[in-house]
Amino acid sequence: MSKNGNYIREKARDTQVIRQADVVVVGGGPGGIGAAVSAARNGADTVLIERYGYLGGMGTGGLVTIIPQLADLTGKQQIAGITQEWIDRLIARNAVDMPKKEHWGSMDKELVRYYFQRSFFYARLDRVSYAAIIDAEISKIILNEMIDEAKIKTYCHAWGTEPIMEGNHCKGVIIESKSGRQAILGKIIIDSTGDGDLFPYANIECETEIPAHYRIANLAVCFWIGGVNYQKTTEFRRDHMKEFMDLMRQANEYGGQGGFMTSNLPDQESMVWFHSRYPNKSQIDVEELTRVEFLGHKIAGKTIEFYKKNVPGFEKAFLVLTDPQLGTRSSRRMVGEYWLTEKDLNDNQPFEDTIAVFPDLDRGNDSLAHPNMYIPYRALLPKNVDNFLVACRAFSSDKHVQDYFNLIPHCIAFGEAAGTASAMALSAGVGVKKVDIKALQKQLAKQGVPLPDVTKKVDYKYTGPAIVGPSFTPPH
Ligand SMILES: Cc1cc2nc3c(=O)[nH]c(=O)nc-3n(C[C@H](O)[C@H](O)[C@H](O)COP(=O)(O)OP(=O)(O)OC[C@H]3O[C@@H](n4cnc5c(N)ncnc54)[C@H](O)[C@@H]3O)c2cc1C
Repeated sequence: MSKNGNYIREKARDTQVIRQADVVVVGGGPGGIGAAVSAARNGADTVLIERYGYLGGMGTGGLVTIIPQLADLTGKQQIAGITQEWIDRLIARNAVDMPKKEHWGSMDKELVRYYFQRSFFYARLDRVSYAAIIDAEISKIILNEMIDEAKIKTYCHAWGTEPIMEGNHCKGVIIESKSGRQAILGKIIIDSTGDGDLFPYANIECETEIPAHYRIANLAVCFWIGGVNYQKTTEFRRDHMKEFMDLMRQANEYGGQGGFMTSNLPDQESMVWFHSRYPNKSQIDVEELTRVEFLGHKIAGKTIEFYKKNVPGFEKAFLVLTDPQLGTRSSRRMVGEYWLTEKDLNDNQPFEDTIAVFPDLDRGNDSLAHPNMYIPYRALLPKNVDNFLVACRAFSSDKHVQDYFNLIPHCIAFGEAAGTASAMALSAGVGVKKVDIKALQKQLAKQGVPLPDVTKKVDYKYTGPAIVGPSFTPPH
């Protein structure tokens, strides 16, 4: 017992090592999938550790099934690689919806209106955008297949609880599961937990402060309502817009949620989605997580009650599912070898070690002036641990960058770069900080990751019209 009585001293104990691998990835969300698949495909013996029973993180269990921002405002695809592979596999199963390729970047008003009505992710900056709405359940199957094909040893239902540190070297990870407390050793460790769960014991510097008005300040409990006669709802909204808006307001007053999105997926016309924003003190405080879970479920219950009684088309509706995984938007953010800041949002110039390009579509007229954000490899590297990478929304960034660029395709891109770099570092016999950047970029390009010519200065000045249509931040 410690002096003040608020701590206990745990006994030292021997923990069984159950596996030794080249690369150990903790967290099987978008970042972890990108990291594990690319490390294994590039020849590393790879282990993936996931606390739940499925892969995909928020993209499946969080019911966050929109993969946006894949093309820039000209319609040029900027995020591809493993993200595109996931989408291609969904296309093969008729489990995805998106604007037609020939329409990306189009400013044709009719087309923009058509796609905007289908989803406001399909039309940004007065143009048709490349965003995909995906089937969460089919995605779980696809991600398992990708992991199996790459022969990645996966432990589901296992929490990565502690890095095993020796000075500034991370030797592996302690996992806790129904099998007890066990150790997995690795030459390179990748934190893809989203929340940087390994940071505290690895002594990795991070920031957690997020002003309350930021998108990423909010937790969410998303849910699906099925059995909706959506044709009837659409007609009612079209013919009685004011009444419809009043009903949405009354739903909020009743303690439920006004406003929803359509599924858009083939044969899912009867399903609608509710995405929420719940302010909180911290997204890594277990008491806050519990409070918001209870609140979100209560609101889901009130929502279905209200809609069934009052909203035309919802008479036979039912609550299909509340998200198995609480919607966490942001928590720990590493302060790494390069800390991306607001200044970089408005720079337009690639870094020498650029490993990803992210279209900037959410900042209204600022996005027109700065259409792409470039990500340096150094944003994945902690300062003080030599064999460690961060491939998830905990990448090295300030709150401004994080607010716009921590989405699913971004995290897959971090993962693809981190996993590829790990395998290349191991085969070259160097640490991850000494990896040959040009060779890494060449390999990423070979894997279908669009990258700029980093030797050339980008000469860009927007001269077109300012935005006249909706330019609000969408509810990611
Ligand atoms: C309500 C909401 C709406 C959003 N809308 C969009 C949107 O429309 N489009 C979009 O692209 N993005 C959206 N986002 C953001 C996006 O979902 C996330 O930023 C993205 O999923 C982050 O990926 P990640 O891999 O970093 O983390 P996560 O998706 O959180 O995945 C982390 C994975 O690690 C696992 N894990 C965590 N801790 C541990 C541990 N200690 N041990 C083992 N496993 C662990 C988790 O179970 C999970 O599988 C939204 C987010 C929310 C919450």
